[in-house]
Amino acid sequence: MAETTACADCREMAANRSWVLRALGHPECVTAIRAEQLAARKFWIRINPEGCVTGSALGEYVGPLAEDAHKEFTPKVRDRRREAAEGWRHELVGHDEWKQRAEPCLFGKCQHRRAVS
Ligand SMILES: [Zn+2]
Ligand SMILES: [Zn+2]
Repeated sequence: MAETTACADCREMAANRSWVLRALGHPECVTAIRAEQLAARKFWIRINPEGCVTGSALGEYVGPLAEDAHKEFTPKVRDRRREAAEGWRHELVGHDEWKQRAEPCLFGKCQHRRAVS
């Protein structure tokens, strides 16, 4: 199975009646549509001054601005000002980029940590 495809009926349900898809969709179509939705998701990643990703959050739950993301990770204004001055950043990335950039950091397998220690 190279291609993940869903039939027209399941696509229509996914677009207009997603609760029906869960109950009536073909299992393989539901899996394919889930995978597509996951691939289309955006994530906020939180990057420390060394360039290491220390956190991530689903974009749709946080908001469209880097400020929104910063507030999500750091609720206090004072802490946000300090972090901004220190060079903390927040970037919105797609799922592929998230896997490339965030996953190694979040699982402790990136270059940044080795450079620090
Ligand atoms: Zn189907
Ligand atoms: Zn890192």
